[in-house]
Amino acid sequence: MTSPGSPIDDVLDELASRRAGDAPTHGGRILSYVYDPGLAEIDRLAADAAAMVQPVNGLDPTVFGSVASCERDLITFARTAFGSDDAVGSITSGGTESCVLAVLAAREHSGTRAGSGSIVMPSTAHAAFDKAAKLLGVTARRVPVDPITTRVDPQAMAGAVTDDTFLLVASAPNYPTGALDPIEEIGAVALDLGLPLHVDACLGGFALAWWPEELPAWDLRVPGVTSLSADFHKYGYAPKGASILLHTDRDRHRAAYFATTDWPGYPIVNATLLGSRSAAGLASAWAITRHLGAEGFSKLVGDISSAQSALIDTIRNIDGLRVVGDPQGPVFAVAADHDAPDPVDPHRWADEVAARGFILQAQPGFTQSDGTVLAPSTHLTITPVTERIVGELSEALVLGAADARGVAPAQAPAALAELGAAFASGAVGVDDALGLDSATTEAVLVGAGIDPHTDPAAASDALDLSAVIAAIDLLPRPVTAKMLTEFLAAFTNP
Ligand SMILES: *Cc1c(COP(=O)(O)O)cnc(C)c1O
Repeated sequence: MTSPGSPIDDVLDELASRRAGDAPTHGGRILSYVYDPGLAEIDRLAADAAAMVQPVNGLDPTVFGSVASCERDLITFARTAFGSDDAVGSITSGGTESCVLAVLAAREHSGTRAGSGSIVMPSTAHAAFDKAAKLLGVTARRVPVDPITTRVDPQAMAGAVTDDTFLLVASAPNYPTGALDPIEEIGAVALDLGLPLHVDACLGGFALAWWPEELPAWDLRVPGVTSLSADFHKYGYAPKGASILLHTDRDRHRAAYFATTDWPGYPIVNATLLGSRSAAGLASAWAITRHLGAEGFSKLVGDISSAQSALIDTIRNIDGLRVVGDPQGPVFAVAADHDAPDPVDPHRWADEVAARGFILQAQPGFTQSDGTVLAPSTHLTITPVTERIVGELSEALVLGAADARGVAPAQAPAALAELGAAFASGAVGVDDALGLDSATTEAVLVGAGIDPHTDPAAASDALDLSAVIAAIDLLPRPVTAKMLTEFLAAFTNP
């Protein structure tokens, strides 16, 4: 097969036109996924720094000294921000990698074998810990939180610990509701039980560190906390590909390394999951922290906090909606207020707000292990740039609620609703569904009107996301996961 190449300008034009169809990454129009400081020079700095290290292989800091020195600077910056003079750690490619490594380090350090062992965390912990558990052959146990405050009872966490538990996990703050777990109390439980405690500050760590209001202690200063993760590619404003994992104990840090000379090639020493790795995330995170300094971070966090309070006030004045729990930090969630005469469905509300140009993130409901339910909600991530559009956004939130009031929640597509009923009555078993092959699963999706082969450029218009979320609520969760896998795999495959 021969295929002629294309001139560089044509290639770049084509990419630009593909990018034009993406959700807007700047200006505060999308309140999830992207973290816009609202400073064009930060983007330029990050791009220049990434370009400078483009050919470097982050695999070997002894060959590429810039990698070692930038890592050292970022570790110093982060451990100072999180209240430790002597924590050790590694720069990773993102929050998931930091969380997986935190679990791996604790498992190895405790001498637990793969295939046994458990970690205990609140219901609201990030799914990255379920992924870590799957990859590392351990059990992740979610402890129910209060469905209204979304706070976990530290004693309930202690109660979920079993003989094989080797790690406690808590969030500062959590993703679904923005609540800060009671880290001091969980730290006391950890000390009492002789277990390490990982604080997942992937999301908001670099915002909380400079939060203007007084917060309960949540970082490496808290007795009992043994590791902490925080993403530079969230509130560190770096392009995707940079996070940090810090440990208070050197041996626990070293326990996650993979080192071998037991093969015919070069000696391998990997601090993280990847082998060859880009230095672009590292260099851009380094450049941004260097340029902003703690002062710059503090100023940006001031903007986030004032936008966040203004928006929370807006929501509290909307009949039929409620802010979930007591968020402390840069994100929060909104659910229907069932005490109001006219509750507003949070997903219908998100659809109406989207029609006014702001994209919020729908979250399905979640049934906890004790049967209590965390209500379906809509998530908002607040960034420094939000402060500039807060008036326009507030108006969209209010008008969106007026339009959504009285509208029933979206229904799942009829074919999926029938399937949901079949599971509920026991006519179809979960194992039968999980045993379906990929082609049959795809046929079910297409039959339900969810066609993964829609042109990606048109997909966001064609897909009724509220209906998809409604379907998630209807089907057994493992079945939903299988369908979403099929959907995404088919979506990205020719
Ligand atoms: C984003 C996030 C993660 C996972 O991070 P990725 O960078 O998306 O891999 C883990 N924990 C929390 C609380 C997060 O918000």
